Order: sequence, then structure tokens, then C-alpha cells
Amino acid sequence: MLSLAAFRAGPDAGRALPSLLDGAQTRLVTSGRIAIGLALRALGVGAGDLVLVPAYHSPSMIPPVHWCGAEVVFYRVLPDTCADLDDIKARLADHPAVKAVMVTHFFGVPQDLAPLRALCDARGIGLVEDCAHCFFGERDGVAVGGSGDYAIGSSMKFFPIHEGGCLVSRRHALDARLHSAGPGFEAKAALAALETSFSYGRLPALRVMLALPLRARTLVWNALKAARAPAGTAGAAAAPSLAPSSSDSSYSFDPRWIDKRSSWFSRLTLRLVSHTRIVARRRRHYLALHEALHDTPGCRPLFAALPDGACPWVFPLLVEQTDAVAERLAHAGVPMVRFGASLWPGVDATVCATSVELGQRVIALPCHQALHGTELAWMITTVRQALQASAKVEA
Ligand SMILES: *Cc1c(COP(=O)(O)O)cnc(C)c1O
Repeated sequence: MLSLAAFRAGPDAGRALPSLLDGAQTRLVTSGRIAIGLALRALGVGAGDLVLVPAYHSPSMIPPVHWCGAEVVFYRVLPDTCADLDDIKARLADHPAVKAVMVTHFFGVPQDLAPLRALCDARGIGLVEDCAHCFFGERDGVAVGGSGDYAIGSSMKFFPIHEGGCLVSRRHALDARLHSAGPGFEAKAALAALETSFSYGRLPALRVMLALPLRARTLVWNALKAARAPAGTAGAAAAPSLAPSSSDSSYSFDPRWIDKRSSWFSRLTLRLVSHTRIVARRRRHYLALHEALHDTPGCRPLFAALPDGACPWVFPLLVEQTDAVAERLAHAGVPMVRFGASLWPGVDATVCATSVELGQRVIALPCHQALHGTELAWMITTVRQALQASAKVEA
């Protein structure tokens, strides 16, 4: 909810972690995928080039590569989601036309990118650091976004806003020029946030804030669209261009947003919301989920521990009876993320068995800063029950 509490530092003052935006050149755009397109363009990626992308990915990472005229080559990830450096070397040996590598800090845990940075430097290849899950954090004294030539963020995954992404660089000057998307868009961005806080029950509102692919935000946008432009009018035809695509509604890429600035409302929210509170509360919620579920039969946290320098996006759990448990959780109304459940066509076990397995088995639970203690407790009980019931059916 967009309650006033979200704007105060409150009692959650904890360890401050650097944000993606600290000390970097920044461009606030309307989505993470648009920022990927800008990063690749800044690296000079074009027709005939290849871009290495993790086989475990969000499908929204691929269309920006195609928009540049380049093709994607997938590389493997390890069971802990880290990039498989040996496989990256093998792909580079096979494909001399690789111009850039994309690497993702999955679920908010910063990876050690020093070896990959060194490899890219040695080969003269650009590095795009995908911090969509990692708006805050550091590893070995390096802030997230500090290793890539360019880094991108998906602000919606961390802030209570309906559009927003960022392109940042601590290594190069940014020359992308942005323009306002116009008063209709500005009004919509603000209205959507108010609509979320007033018209919906708490859990649906949370789903929107989590940017989950549950159509909740699409419903909000559609409701607004319908309210402003009756079907068949010129306004209705223009409406799609007033709502940028992002992970909740689809994986598509609309190049009309490439030079559009994020809304005033979103930019203000990024500035006003307490970053320390987001980090502290997300970490606390994650650790509570970990503590409550780590020894529950039928599941295992994907990460053995939460590193000090991490601010999690969600809490990923490896679940044995994944589909049965997911069905029960969906039925109970627990918001979850099945990251990687749909991979880009052609990415199967022959490309990377680990990615397919992660996509099938991970159920990620929210650790959003806006969660209440009672909701967290309810979620834990419901997950335990779903695991238990699914184990019984299996037995
Ligand atoms: C969500 C996501 C993106 C794209 O972000 P949007 O803001 O939805 O465009 C990129 N990479 C990863 C890993 C993501 O999860």
C-alpha cells in the first residue's frame, strides 16, 4: 500500500546498502527492458553481432537484443544461478561475433563479477550487468552496477510504482537523451498508484507492487484505459502507447518507449521512499521466511544463506512437488513468482539442464517491504500446509 509509512525511515533503520543509482550516471526510463536496449545500443551492438545471455533468464531480456539487430547465444548457469564462466569461454571460442555479455544477479544476490569483467576486458567485449533483481547491494566492496560497462534496473520490482527502469554506468558517460511521454502518461502513472491503494484489497495490491505476472496491473491499466477512452474512439487506439510493457503484462518490447523518461510520480517515489527501510525490511522478511521454511520437508531454500551485501527481490525456494504446491498456493491466494518457468523458445535441457530445472522447481515468495507481520505469518503457515498436503498426495 502507498501508506505514509512507506515514506518514513521509521524504526527499520538498518545497514545502508549502496543502490544502483549511487555515484553513477543514470537515465530513468520506463522499464528494465528499455534500459537493456539502451545499454546494448551504447555498446554499439548492431546487425550481425551476437550477445551472450544466461539460459536462465526473463524472456523480456531477449527482444531488446533483436531490436538492435543482433542475435542471442545462451550460456549456462550453475545450480546456484551464477554464470558458468567456462561455458562463457566456450561460447566465445565458438562465436567470434560476440559483442556483449549480459549477466544477471538473480533474486537479489550479487555475484562476483570480477572474473567475467576480466574476461570481457581481455576480449574487448562489453558487459551489461542486469540488476533487475538487485536494486541495492554490494559484493566484496563493489556496489551493484559497478562491474558492467552499463547496468540496468527494474525499479518496479522494488518501489511501489507502475513503470520504471534505469540505465546506469559508473564507467562511461551516458549520451541517451530522454523526453517526457506526455501529460496523459504522467496522469496515468499517478492515477494507477492511487487506484492500487484505494480500490483493491491488500493482496491484489501487493501483487501489483511485486510486479508479478498475475495480470493485476494489466487490469489497472485496462480499467483506466476504459475510463478515459470509450472503445472505438481515437483515444482507445492511442491507448497502448500510454502504457509501457513490463514483466507483469508481457515480455514484449515497444521501441516507442526507448527515449521516454519515467513518470514524474515514479521519479519522485524513487527519491522519497526510504532506501534503508526497503533494504532492512526486505532482508528481515527474507530471513523470517528462510528461518521458518529451511528445514520443512519437501523444499529447500535456493540459497543456503543471505549474504550481508544482498537486498533480496523475492525468497526463492526449491520445491519437490512444485506443480502441486504451486496450485495449492495459487488457490490460497499466496502471491508467488515462478521465475524462469517460461524460457525463450529453444532453451531446453540440451542448452542448459540447470536452467530448465530451476525454472520448473523454484517457487519464489514475496519479501516485499510493504508486507505486514500477519501476512508473513499467514504465508508461512499456508506454504507449510501446501507442502505437507502435496507430500501426502505423493506418498
Ligand atoms: C524483470 C526483468 C527484466 C526486465 O525488467 P522490466 O522492468 O520488466 O522491463 C530484466 N531482467 C530480469 C532478470 C528481470 O527479471
